[in-house]
Amino acid sequence: MAKIIDGKSIADEIYRELRKEVSTLKDKPGLAVVLVGDDPASIVYVRNKERACKRLGLNYKLLKFPQSISRDELLSSIRTLNEDREINGIIVQMPLPKHLDAFDVVSNIDPLKDVDGLHPDNLGRLSSGKPRIIPCTPLGIIELLKRENIDIRGKNAVIVGRSNLVGKPLFHLLLSLDATVTVCHSKTIDLKRETSRADILVCAVGVPRLITVDMVKEGAIVIDVGINKVEDKLVGDVDFERVKEIATFITPVPGGVGPMTVAMLMKNVITAYRLQKGKV
Ligand code: NDP
Repeated sequence: MAKIIDGKSIADEIYRELRKEVSTLKDKPGLAVVLVGDDPASIVYVRNKERACKRLGLNYKLLKFPQSISRDELLSSIRTLNEDREINGIIVQMPLPKHLDAFDVVSNIDPLKDVDGLHPDNLGRLSSGKPRIIPCTPLGIIELLKRENIDIRGKNAVIVGRSNLVGKPLFHLLLSLDATVTVCHSKTIDLKRETSRADILVCAVGVPRLITVDMVKEGAIVIDVGINKVEDKLVGDVDFERVKEIATFITPVPGGVGPMTVAMLMKNVITAYRLQKGKV
């Protein structure tokens, strides 16, 4: 029977540490969130970020724009935030409407304020082994493993999902920590063969119960990033009830990776603040 990793209480511990850190800073770091349109999931995520800022006493600013906003208007508001000395972190909530290119928009954020860590400058640094601001979800996964004293070095780590948001940056982080890393995706021919070799299995796909118990090695560490709504309930990508019987560690959904993502965002806002003050 696996130990269930309590992401919420680990995140609470991180908030306590961050609150102390914030109290030592000269001014309050500030986060700006740019929300385009009214996607219900995005509204929930944005609210969670606001709540986290309040919890730490950080400044928070929400810029809401209609679905129809033009590229020029959006980039002009990002430029204003880039210049705003009270704002240390900028996030553009994804997904964006089809006429706006996420890569183009994120590339226009000042890389020192890019607290999602998705600016090409920050992703490039990560892949070169010189990370500056690291995407929140992969950073949260590594933090969970560290705080559970899970040794990563030399382990076979298998990531299912290759998005810029999760799979790819996590690949670089695990590699830098000396894991042997495999990344799977929708074109992987034999997913079960790959996942069955994993000492550490991370699933970030968005398909409920994609990972069944026969795909998991006995004793594996299983990190479920997926968030799926099934009959009004949130579930991950892993068949939690059965896989927990054979794993050594497993994260639940909700209450696993999710709370860590927001906590790491707060950590990144403070990192960004320090970078801008030349104190990192
Ligand atoms: P994307 O849709 O960007 O990427 C999904 C990845 O899964 C792609 O690489 C895709 O392959 C791969 N994939 C799709 N179907 C299969 C399959 N049948 N077998 C193997 N691989 C497959 O998603 P994100 O990375 O943004 O998010 C993934 C999940 O994690 C979502 O459920 C999301 O809600 C959740 N999430 C949770 C967070 C948290 O804080 N807990 C934060 C971010 C995301 P291909 O590249 O070939 O298309």
